[in-house]
This record gives sequence, C-alpha cells and structure tokens, in this order.
Amino acid sequence: MPTVKPVVIMGAGPAGLTAAWELVRSGRDVVVWEADPSYVGGIARTVQAEGYRFDIGGHLFYSKSPEVTEFWRKVLPDDFIESPSLVRILHRGKRFDFPFDPKKAGYKLGFLEGIRQSLSKPAQNNAEENLAQWLTNRYGRRFYELLFKPYYEKINGLPCDQISAAVGERHLRPLPGDRKTFPYPKHGPGQFWEAVANRVLERGSPIFLDRRVQTVHWDETGVTHVTGTNAAREFFQQEGSNFLSSLPLGELLLALDPPAPKEVAAAARALSHRNLITVCVIANRETIFPETLLMVSDPSVKVANILNYKNWSPDLVANAKTTSLGLEYYCAGSDNVWNATDFDLAQLGIRDAVQLGLIKEADVKDAFVVRTAKACPVCDLDYQRNLDVIKQWVGLFANLQPMGRNGLHNYNYQDHSIITAMLAVRNIQGAEFDCWKVDADAKYLLNAKG
Ligand SMILES: Cc1cc2nc3c(=O)[nH]c(=O)nc-3n(C[C@H](O)[C@H](O)[C@H](O)COP(=O)(O)OP(=O)(O)OC[C@H]3O[C@@H](n4cnc5c(N)ncnc54)[C@H](O)[C@@H]3O)c2cc1C
Repeated sequence: MPTVKPVVIMGAGPAGLTAAWELVRSGRDVVVWEADPSYVGGIARTVQAEGYRFDIGGHLFYSKSPEVTEFWRKVLPDDFIESPSLVRILHRGKRFDFPFDPKKAGYKLGFLEGIRQSLSKPAQNNAEENLAQWLTNRYGRRFYELLFKPYYEKINGLPCDQISAAVGERHLRPLPGDRKTFPYPKHGPGQFWEAVANRVLERGSPIFLDRRVQTVHWDETGVTHVTGTNAAREFFQQEGSNFLSSLPLGELLLALDPPAPKEVAAAARALSHRNLITVCVIANRETIFPETLLMVSDPSVKVANILNYKNWSPDLVANAKTTSLGLEYYCAGSDNVWNATDFDLAQLGIRDAVQLGLIKEADVKDAFVVRTAKACPVCDLDYQRNLDVIKQWVGLFANLQPMGRNGLHNYNYQDHSIITAMLAVRNIQGAEFDCWKVDADAKYLLNAKG
C-alpha cells in the first residue's frame, strides 16, 4: 500500500495551527515546523516570565466571521472572559478616545487648538492612495499632523504619504461602537493556540519547535520537500504531498530551490517588514492607568503603544499587588534599537514610562524584553505591485499555498489568517478558493480580482 505523505505546514502561528487542526480532524497527517524554540502561536503567542504572561501586541478575539467565532468557542469553551477594551491616544499628557471623536478632541485641546482644528475640517480630498490622505479625509489635517502622523510613522518607519491607504482600512478597522468588551482567553491569546496545538498532537501529528525552514525544494512535479536547521545547527528534511506556508512571503520565495525567476525574486526582496520589541515592565503598583492600550503619538518618546496587561485579564499578572506593562517599539532589522542589548532596551522602556508620567523608577520590580521579527508587513505604495508579480508565479504551484499575515503580506487580524488557512485546507481537499481574496473582515470576496 503506498503511504500518503503528510501535509507540511511552515509556521505554528494562527494560520499554521488552524490548517493543522483542520487537516488532522479530516484524517490527514501533518508535520509542522516552527522556528520559535519555545512557543506556538506566532505573533499571537503568550510569553511567560516569573509567573507573568505577556500578550505580544494585545489580541482581541473579535471577528465578523461566524466560522471563526465558532472555532474559538469550540476550542476554549470555558476560558474566554469578556475583556474591557479601553483604548486611548496619549499625546503630551492628554488622552483622546479611540475610536477617535474629533469634536471631543477639539474641546480637550483648548481654545487655540480648537480654532486651528475647525479651520482644518475633514478634507474634501477624495484621493485615498496613501495613509496621509486616508487620515486627513477622516480627521482633518490638524489632527492628522498632531496625533496620527507621529504615531503611524513610529509604527511603519515611513512618512504617511508613502504608506498605502490599506493600512488605514485595516488598522482602524471599525469595531462595533456600542461594544465595550471583547472575548479574550483568560491566560492570553497563546492559551488558545496552545490548546489547538495540543489537539493536533493528540491526533498523532508532530509540531516541531526550533525548526526553521531554510530551503523549499521543487521540480517539475511541484514542491517535493523542505530542509532546515535548529539552533544547534542540526539538519532536517521533510517530504510532503502539499505544503502550506505562513512564512513571510518574500522569505518563502527566496528559499525556493531552484530559485524563482529574477523579476519574482526582485519583487520578493522588495517586500519589507517592521520588527517589534516589547519591553515588559513589572511595577510594584496595584493600578497604573485605566486603559487596556495607550497609543502614544507623543514624538518625544520612541514607544508607540503601551499595553496594561492586568486590564486585559487579571490572570496575566502573578501578583495582584503588581501591574505589568508592555511597551512596544517598532523598527527595522538594521536599526540600532533592534540590535541593542536587552539591558539597554529595558532601560529605554522604563525611561519612556517614567517620562510619560506613568510610573516612577522606584516602582519597577523587573523588566523583560521580547523580540518579534517581521511582526508587521510594510504596505508601502509599491507593495501591491510586488504582490501581483509574486501571486502570478507562486500560483503556478499546485501543491504550495501561502496563507496568513506575512504569508500573504497582509496587515491583518487573526480571523483573516484563520480563514485563509481554512480555505487553503479546502483547496487540498479539492476546492478552488483564492486565499488572496479574503478581505480585512475575513470575508471571501467572490467578485474580487484574482
Ligand atoms: C501589535 C499587534 C497587535 C495585534 N492585535 C490583534 C488583535 O487585537 N486581534 C487579532 O485578531 N489580531 C491581532 N494582531 C494580528 C495577529 O497577531 C496576526 O493576525 C496573527 O498572529 C497572524 O497569524 P499567522 O499564523 O498568519 O502569522 P504569525 O503569527 O506571524 O505566525 C507565523 C509563524 O511562522 C513562524 N516562522 C517564520 N519563519 C519561519 C521559518 N523559516 N521556519 C519555520 N517557522 C517560521 C513564526 O515564528 C511564527 O510562529 C496583532 C498583531 C500585532 C503585530
């Protein structure tokens, strides 16, 4: 009897684990390779230190897709809490509601600023190619310059007029306005993804941590196998019938052997990302601020977001007399900050929190640094053109499918990754979905251009 080769899944983030679960429950064997040495869950992992749990990014489990919501509830029927979502923009000591209300904000900024603001009403500028136009059209030039421009430039590392308007659509995705709480696993998003991984393991399919895909081998029949290494530089090889990749799309393309054609490789090289550094600070304070997340538009500090973990779930802190914060820094791999020592980064986080008046240095109990490479795909003004080149060529492989956030180079939320993984699995089972047609709301767009 010929044995059916397993489906090889690259990456154990939300996309990889969803695909793995969908396949094993339909009776297929899978083998998952994950580069991280300690955690599954990708960006949605929960990092643990000294009994504290750190959510990298802050993950609301909100989706308009009933399929996704049902998946979440079925895997963790008893462990979702309703977590309050209180997000504010912090600018020079003042806090502004988010979703943003220009009227309330004008009032808060005082008389002079109110006049300036009223002179720069939401623009009549209908062009919406870049983020500067997208924001100005909604909030007016004054608020754009004061509050949004510094914030988005910290995150994206580019002037807003060089960032695609798609970032506005996706990052500022409207949540139901009257809703004040959202489902959240009480031990953080990683709890959900660890539960999915356990279900896959229970069905007998392996998930290998510390196993980085380095080369994806193919011939005229399609992809044949992947090879890679671990931290100890041991060599591994895995054959498969089908290959699902949540690796950064550019990396996947450049890992192909034989190499992709020149123009495809050039498009792959042109896709870039922002790395994320989270400085996790534990303070000897019962409370620090009421928000779950502060978006720091203040240009005098490098920090872009500050998460207050206790407000997401009290189970994220080991000791109720303390509070833990996650200070987020976005950077390129070549930036000094990415290459700084953990000690220097912890100092930077503490200094910023003190300068913003959130804590005193004497409050600090401990600090940790968590690095996430390629956390955000950069959507510059050329990214769509590069994607078109790649899509055309990678679509020629019958047994290789990219999926998920970096896999499709899409500035997404988990539900988009989950749905693209579900569709990729259905394609293996004979369907013909185009994963590129899943939109920011995780809806499959039947009429979208392929
Ligand atoms: C700051 C921030 C806030 C967010 N907030 C929310 C939110 O509130 N709600 C929400 O739903 N979503 C949120 N998201 C988005 C969410 O994190 C992503 O949608 C989701 O994690 C993407 O899943 P993925 O599996 O596609 O990719 P990833 O999570 O990136 O997983 C990919 C996996 O592949 C692995 N990998 C990479 N290269 C290799 C290799 N060569 N070999 C083997 N493995 C490899 C990585 O280590 C990783 O584990 C947020 C993201 C960020 C950055």
